[in-house]
Amino acid sequence: TNAPRVAGRHFLQIPGPSPVPERILSAIARQTIDHRGPDFGKLGLRVLDGMRSIFKTRGAVVIYPASGTGAWEAALANTLSPGDKVLMVETGHFATLWKTMAGKLGVEATFIPSDWRAGADPAAIEAALREDKEHAFKAVCVVHNETSTGSTSRIDEVRKAIDAAGHPALLMVDTISSLASVDYRHDEWGVDVTVAGSQKGLMLPPGLSFNAVSEKALAASKASRLPKSFWGWEEMIAAGKSGYFPYTPATNLLYGLDEAIQMLHEEGLDAVFARHLRHGEATRRAVAAWGLENLCTNPKHFSPVLTAVVMPEGHDADRLRSVILDAFDMSLGTGLSKVAKKVFRIGHLGDINDLTLVGTLGGVEMGLGLAGVPHKAGGVAAAMAYLAEGKREGGAKA
Ligand code: PLP
Repeated sequence: TNAPRVAGRHFLQIPGPSPVPERILSAIARQTIDHRGPDFGKLGLRVLDGMRSIFKTRGAVVIYPASGTGAWEAALANTLSPGDKVLMVETGHFATLWKTMAGKLGVEATFIPSDWRAGADPAAIEAALREDKEHAFKAVCVVHNETSTGSTSRIDEVRKAIDAAGHPALLMVDTISSLASVDYRHDEWGVDVTVAGSQKGLMLPPGLSFNAVSEKALAASKASRLPKSFWGWEEMIAAGKSGYFPYTPATNLLYGLDEAIQMLHEEGLDAVFARHLRHGEATRRAVAAWGLENLCTNPKHFSPVLTAVVMPEGHDADRLRSVILDAFDMSLGTGLSKVAKKVFRIGHLGDINDLTLVGTLGGVEMGLGLAGVPHKAGGVAAAMAYLAEGKREGGAKA
């Protein structure tokens, strides 16, 4: 209670929630309005349409006042029936949680195992589907950006693998930590259900989550027999046609969402993706210069959103994180389940720029020294050299 004031901005460099820009905070601070009134309908239509532009879909979008976990449940509950089989890929902690949820809902999930050091292997998906001659798998579920490991799967390649196997399974993709940070195309990649959340690339506080729904998924929902009420798409989509919700929506978060969508288009989605790619590369150069290891070992899957750094043997990642929090008021992501204490995660997503990243990496480099973690100097310098070079080549573009 009597802790001294800490000056300056707290560095929230976990891989979500990401820092919320002032413009969004101000938008959220406006007075709440009647959610059955005419102004709300206009807001509702605008954000639903705006989210279509972010998902890159012409299909239906549903917005839940819930964390991402809720939208995970909605994806499964709306499309599947008790005893259905689904194919999932063990990219890491979040894929594991989604699989556990499927089990609790009465769905039988088969895991393609992995060492948590890469994204989904399309060839393994294709092989599993080719073996499934009776088409028992009703869905293939993939986490686009595995937030626990820093591996990003190639959804376009997963789509090709499903098509190559000639398998009719739905494709469901968790983009909770990738949407609005990493290139994503719901329609073009033939995704049936995309799951997303507010607190990462969309730069909002936690509390909203989303389903983007294909025609095929809508058709599956008519036959689906898993119980659902709150999560049911039908009433949501019907009310959404005029911009309303079947219940009281999170009005103020929707003000924020409206602002976020506008900000993303002002910067341009392609520029947003390029900025994240650049910050991912700069971070990896710093990690390499420190002589430390990236948890993700497949360069095709390096995440533009976060980097999970492997600690040298015998050093505790959580101790390093606590030294950095105390000394520099910066939060880094903890290692989750299998990789607890073995990795720390540097978030480089959302509303950040080159200097935010240089500050972040500066905090890590100083922290490594303070915590006595064996490393080489020069990580920040390597990142700065790369970032400055990009400005030289790209002018004001990046
Ligand atoms: N999936 C991924 C990839 C995530 O990163 C997270 C949260 O970090 C979740 C699912 C769960 O979302 P939430 O914590 O918003 O319920």
